[in-house]
Amino acid sequence: MTAEVIYGNVLAEKLRIDMKDEVILLREQGIQPKLTVVLIGDDPASKSYVKGKQKASEFVGVESDLIELPENTTEKTLLDLIDQLNADQTIHGILVQLPLPDQIREQLVIEAISPEKDVDGFHPINIGRMLTGKDTFLPCTPFGIITMLKSKNIEMSGKNAVVIGRSNIVGKPVGQLLLNENATVTYCHSRTKNMDQFIKEADIVIVAVGIAHFLRAEAVKPGAVVIDVGINRLEDGSLTGDVDFENVKEKASFITPVPKGVGPMTITMLLHNTIKSAKKIYHV
Ligand code: NAP
Repeated sequence: MTAEVIYGNVLAEKLRIDMKDEVILLREQGIQPKLTVVLIGDDPASKSYVKGKQKASEFVGVESDLIELPENTTEKTLLDLIDQLNADQTIHGILVQLPLPDQIREQLVIEAISPEKDVDGFHPINIGRMLTGKDTFLPCTPFGIITMLKSKNIEMSGKNAVVIGRSNIVGKPVGQLLLNENATVTYCHSRTKNMDQFIKEADIVIVAVGIAHFLRAEAVKPGAVVIDVGINRLEDGSLTGDVDFENVKEKASFITPVPKGVGPMTITMLLHNTIKSAKKIYHV
């Protein structure tokens, strides 16, 4: 069996074209969705993500402001800025690019952003809403993954899903969203013993570890759906995922590539959340 490749970039483009039309209609009603991104320091990966977000915002017609602050910014300066952004009625989404410098406590910053403008879906109130199946801003990468699965009509209800990785931004929430879709979810992580016993039973495998070629074909059940979240830079500068794509593709039914897989969907869901926030504020 050779898997069908789910190209996130193709789906993302389709969704962005639909969003563009939606934003045109909103503008006609005097509503201009606006996202403010705060970037601290000079980390090249963060700069590159932020650039991608701005380019996508521009395409869709979401206004995107970038506030750049120096590496030595104090926690108080950032929290004061967030207060101002929370109070600004013209801003519908606030995103503080992570990771933050050591002098700033990440959780404090996440909790300072108004849950109504938390388009990353990281605020504990929004996580609680997700957990209880309430309408909320879903965290962008997990939301993108579920959207990819749905786009191929992949059944989640009653399926065994294994999530490898348990970070707050990917592993834990994607497992929760799969549970909300009635999958039976197992989390694996660095302390999991004999991980292959879980993977071999999995109809859906989500890999979010950050180790190149971590998931080998031998471990995968024939016909499984494999979603690769990992982004790893190889010595030659190219990007690769957490899945041994070439070999796993021969065993899986669906697989996502890296690049052109989950990554483009993450930014798209951020724009979706920003538009949703604008619509909510204006009761549209
Ligand atoms: P993270 O916070 O570093 O978490 C990695 C997880 O992998 C942890 O839960 C860790 O377990 C687990 N792990 C590490 N080594 C393992 C091993 N040998 N066996 C089993 N589990 C192991 O990473 P993250 O933020 O979730 O990101 C994961 C990957 O996805 C990275 O490559 C990142 O760049 C990528 N990513 C991509 C997107 C996108 O849009 N495509 C978005 C976010 C992240 P413990 O908890 O036990 O330490």
